[in-house]
Amino acid sequence: MFILSDKFDAIIVGAGVAGSTAGYLLAKEGLDVLIIERGNYPGSKNMTGGRLYSHSLEKIIPDFAEKAPLERKITTEKISMITEDSLVTVDYQSEDLGARGTASYSVLRSKFDPWLAEQAEEAGAQIVPGIRVDDLLVKDGHVCGISAGGEEMESEVVILADGVNSLLAQKLGMRSELRPDQVAVGVKEIIELPKKTIEDRFNLSESEGVAWLFDGSVSAGRIGGGFLYTNKSSLSLGIVCTLSDLSDSPVPLPQMMENFKIHKAIAPLIADGKTAEYSAHLVPEAGLNMVPRIVGNGVLVIGDAAGFCINIGYAVRGMDLAIGSAEAAAKAILYAKERRDYSETSLSKYKELLDQSFVMKDLKLYRKFPKFMENRRIFNDYPQLAADIMKDLFTIDGGETLPLRKKIMHEVKKAGLMNLMKDVFKGVRAL
Ligand SMILES: Cc1cc2nc3c(=O)[nH]c(=O)nc-3n(C[C@H](O)[C@H](O)[C@H](O)COP(=O)(O)OP(=O)(O)OC[C@H]3O[C@@H](n4cnc5c(N)ncnc54)[C@H](O)[C@@H]3O)c2cc1C
Repeated sequence: MFILSDKFDAIIVGAGVAGSTAGYLLAKEGLDVLIIERGNYPGSKNMTGGRLYSHSLEKIIPDFAEKAPLERKITTEKISMITEDSLVTVDYQSEDLGARGTASYSVLRSKFDPWLAEQAEEAGAQIVPGIRVDDLLVKDGHVCGISAGGEEMESEVVILADGVNSLLAQKLGMRSELRPDQVAVGVKEIIELPKKTIEDRFNLSESEGVAWLFDGSVSAGRIGGGFLYTNKSSLSLGIVCTLSDLSDSPVPLPQMMENFKIHKAIAPLIADGKTAEYSAHLVPEAGLNMVPRIVGNGVLVIGDAAGFCINIGYAVRGMDLAIGSAEAAAKAILYAKERRDYSETSLSKYKELLDQSFVMKDLKLYRKFPKFMENRRIFNDYPQLAADIMKDLFTIDGGETLPLRKKIMHEVKKAGLMNLMKDVFKGVRAL
């Protein structure tokens, strides 16, 4: 049951990374904050690949890396082009990957989200888990509270941090129903292995970790890719595929996952592991093109609910944007409180702050990338091209040897030189 004031300064729907960060910042400034989470505990319904880029949270809680339940600091980046029987990998290791302010960490949301929610609670926010917000209270076109579990609660402002499929923003008419080309479906297994086994198999020392992304046969040639992150004593292995491109795929997503697990490059890495968790979730993938109305009278939309996610192939970013947008929203609410004006005009400060922050700058920078990815050559022809070039390079059989240039051009022409040039040009422009 709720323990309640008459009216809150802010009610936040959802205790994911966006909601808890906003709650923490507002409560720290002395506002009366209520966070309502439909899951039995924060994080119980949440999923990520996942790697947290630390920059935005570090700005808010500078010593979070020493206190939060993080898994491993990413010190090795791998990107592979994968076919059914080959793997071509770029492997980058550097001390620079762990530097303060730029470090990234593998995380498990079932541990990380409760910790972040606890920070909000310690700052003074009230968190009510296990209750779904069913509707918003609207008076004269102004959002003034929520209704949940048969009760109505009033507030000056409501923050919608309810994730990618924000039905509440939809009910308010702030966004339309998600289209299948705007979202991807992610499936993920958490595979438990002894800590020492992980460190031996991935050549890691204690607390170091690998982030590994895959392009090619892993998504059966559809728009998508695979991922593997090392946690302390488990691996997060999964696939993300654009929903609209899955509908006519001859290989269903669960089967792609099974094929991924038995691929000869992956099977030895997960051997003797125990699947502890299997989950699926939507990912907003259309970038700036799917950002809805994010400010209304008495209401702000943050995180995935606002479509703030970037997938640029070599990096998937949603959590750092969720945190960045929560910070902008909290500042806008403090500005509105000072003026005692929670109208859309006053709360539009949120958009101004977002525009100045990395959230909008990066979304704008990569706005062409989702369109660029709607090209199956990236997931079929080019992984095969990479494998064929490698085969030519490394096959020495005593027969006639062509010069390197001719070997490469022979394979490139097979894949289509003009298409390749066009795609490289478009890719460079999109990034
Ligand atoms: C497969 C996959 C891989 C990803 N990989 C990465 C990665 O490596 N790095 C990265 O940064 N990002 C990654 N992302 C994206 C990232 O997970 C999201 O961007 C991030 O979780 C968004 O946080 P959020 O707080 O906005 O939303 P969420 O984490 O979805 O939180 C929303 C919360 O609202 C609650 N809620 C919803 N409706 C209601 C309601 N009506 N009432 C009460 N509560 C409600 C939910 O239970 C949930 O707790 C990945 C996503 C997926 C699916």
